[in-house]
Order: sequence, then C-alpha cells, then structure tokens
Amino acid sequence: MTNTKYHGAIPSRCWCGKKIVTYVSKTEENPYRRFFRCEIGLQRKKENHLFKWVDEALLDEIERMSEHQARVAEEIEDLRISMKKTVQEEVMNHKHSLDIDCVGTLFSLLCLWSKCD
Ligand SMILES: [Zn+2]
Repeated sequence: MTNTKYHGAIPSRCWCGKKIVTYVSKTEENPYRRFFRCEIGLQRKKENHLFKWVDEALLDEIERMSEHQARVAEEIEDLRISMKKTVQEEVMNHKHSLDIDCVGTLFSLLCLWSKCD
C-alpha cells in the first residue's frame, strides 16, 4: 500500500468526495495497525485514493496543534505588549489633561483672588 501525500492531519474525506473509514490492518508487517481509507480506494486499489495510518495521523495532528499553539502564544504576547502600550498612552494623556485642569483651576482661583483685592 502506498501512502498518498495528504498534508492535513486527520483526514475526513478523500479527494473523490467519499467519507474516510477507519480499518484495521491484517498484514504481517502491520498487524492490528489502524488506518484511514477511502471506501472506494479499498475496492479500486489501482486508483490513488486516500490512505493514512491512524498513529501517523495523530502524531501529525499533535505537531500541527503544537505549531498552532506556539502561534497563538505569540499572538497573545503581541496583544499584551500593544495593550500595555495603549494603557500607558492613555494614562499619559489622562495625566496631561489633569495637569491642564489643575493649571486651569489654579488660574481661575488666582483670578478670583485678584478680584477680591
Ligand atoms: Zn476516494
């Protein structure tokens, strides 16, 4: 049996559109080893329908998931950095406007004070 070049991890459908079924190998080289196979491929062995060992598919899936997880972790770190920056900017803006308010208040107090004289 030849392994078709399937790059996804766990196959669900063959290129022919047929659903993938899990079978158990009865060969001497791979006794009781489970594999994914297209139903049509099982009948028409000359055509290159999907075949994939289940254990290999699971290993691929784990690899794919850990790559995905690393990407997600990277995205979270980027978000964390940009969020921190945004918060810092907001705080700075707020501080700045507070300073202006303070000066404004002081100025109007001074004006009132001078009018009293
Ligand atoms: Zn097929």
